[in-house]
Amino acid sequence: MDIKSLVRDIPDFPKPGILFRDITTLLRHPQGLRYTLDSLHQKCEAEGFNPDYIVGMESRGFLFAPALAYQLQAGFVPVRKPGKLPSSVHRVEYDLEYGSDALEVHQDAFGLGDRVLIVDDLLATGGTAKATAALVEQAGAEVLGFAFIIELRDLSGRTLLPEVPIVTLIEY
Ligand code: 5GP
Repeated sequence: MDIKSLVRDIPDFPKPGILFRDITTLLRHPQGLRYTLDSLHQKCEAEGFNPDYIVGMESRGFLFAPALAYQLQAGFVPVRKPGKLPSSVHRVEYDLEYGSDALEVHQDAFGLGDRVLIVDDLLATGGTAKATAALVEQAGAEVLGFAFIIELRDLSGRTLLPEVPIVTLIEY
């Protein structure tokens, strides 16, 4: 199965000059979705990941992280944009191309030393994944690794991330 052929390219989204990799066409393909989730699971097992929790980032991380949590018999913890989580949170701010943004996780989401695998649909500049790792560490847990469906190699996002294994399925 060619996962790449199921990802749709959308020029000039969300702004002029950006080529957006649209995964909705992959998600709606029954065999493609199953193959993608199975491949992600197999690669994470081959890497030896044995997480207590899978962390997924709002919002496209939510589409893959719970399925992987189910397969690895781990729990799922959401990392969300500010103001969305109802209980006390840890918060991390990070720089965007223009301005800054923040991510939050519940303070009681992890126990000390819990093993965490961070999952998102796509690694671009690495800002989102780096901020999520900082958040997990702030909460007292350990980042075992990262898993992404897509990596945009030219943006070198992986150089920002902590030195742990990174699993990816396709690259551009
Ligand atoms: P980064 O922080 O690594 O620059 O950007 C990655 C984040 O932005 C991910 O949460 C991802 O969902 C989103 N993102 C950035 N570009 C794209 C894209 O072309 N396609 C998709 N599906 N997500 C993107």
